[in-house]
Amino acid sequence: MARPFLFGTNFKMNQTPVESAVFYQQLAASVQIPPDTHLFVIPPFTSLPAVKDVVGQPPHGIWVGAQNVHWAPDGAYTGEISVGMLRALDVDLVLLGHAERRRYFHETDVELNRKVLAALSASMRVLLAVGETAEERSFGVGGETVLRQLRIGLHGVQPEHLELVQIAYEPVWSIGAGGTPASPDDVEPIAKLIRSGCQDLFAGSGAGIPILYGGSVDPTNAGTFTALPDIDGLFVGRAAWTVEGFVATCHAGYEGYSKGDRAIG
Ligand code: PEP
Repeated sequence: MARPFLFGTNFKMNQTPVESAVFYQQLAASVQIPPDTHLFVIPPFTSLPAVKDVVGQPPHGIWVGAQNVHWAPDGAYTGEISVGMLRALDVDLVLLGHAERRRYFHETDVELNRKVLAALSASMRVLLAVGETAEERSFGVGGETVLRQLRIGLHGVQPEHLELVQIAYEPVWSIGAGGTPASPDDVEPIAKLIRSGCQDLFAGSGAGIPILYGGSVDPTNAGTFTALPDIDGLFVGRAAWTVEGFVATCHAGYEGYSKGDRAIG
C-alpha cells in the first residue's frame, strides 16, 4: 500500500470570505483529483462558512482546513476557536504548529500536543507543522529540534487516530518571502528522521503517516521534493495563492510523487 499524495495551501491572514469562496470554486472547476490524492485549502477562520457553502453544493473532494484550534472544549479563552466550533462547520482538517504560530504567538510543543489530542479525539484530521530555525540549523540541532517537536506534538496519540495525522516539514529558514529555498539534499535526511521518528513512536503503523514538505516550493522545484522517498506531498504558500499557481505546482509535485517509491508493505 502506498501513502497518498497530499497537496494544499494555507492562506494565512489573507482573503475575505468572498475571495476564498471564489478561489475554491475556481479550483474545484480546474482540477481532476486522482484517487491516490488529497487536496486541501486552509483559509482564515472567517472564510470557513463561505467555503463550506461552496463545497456543500457538489462534493469536490478538496479538504477545507482551519489554521488553528484551542484545546479546551469551551470556556474563558477570548479570541479562541474550539474543535466543536470547527466541527459544526464540517471543517475537515486543522493546521497546528505553523512556524508563524510558534514564533509570533509563542505556541509551545506541549500546548500543541493538547491541541493535537483535542482535534483527534473529535476525529478531525491534523496537519502538524514542524521545522527548525536558521539558528538551530547553524548549531547543528535541526534534526533534534524537529524530532522534539514531533515527539511532544504526537505524544499520547492513539493508534486508531493515526490515519488522521499528517506532518508538514517546513524549515523555518526556507518559508515565506525572506526564506532561502532548501534543496532536496537538505530535506531528505530530515524527512527520513521524521519517518523513523514516527515509526519509533507508533511502531509499524507510524510508517503510513504522510509527510509533506513546505518552504519556497514552486512549479520549478516541486517535483524534486516529491521524488524523495519520504516526501508524500507539498504544503505550499505563495506559489499556490492563485488557482493557476496551485494547479501548476500541484501537477509538478504529482509528477515527482508518481516517480517515487513509497511502498510501505
Ligand atoms: C509557509 O509559510 O508555510 C510556506 C510554505 O510558505 P511559502 O511556500 O510561501 O514559502
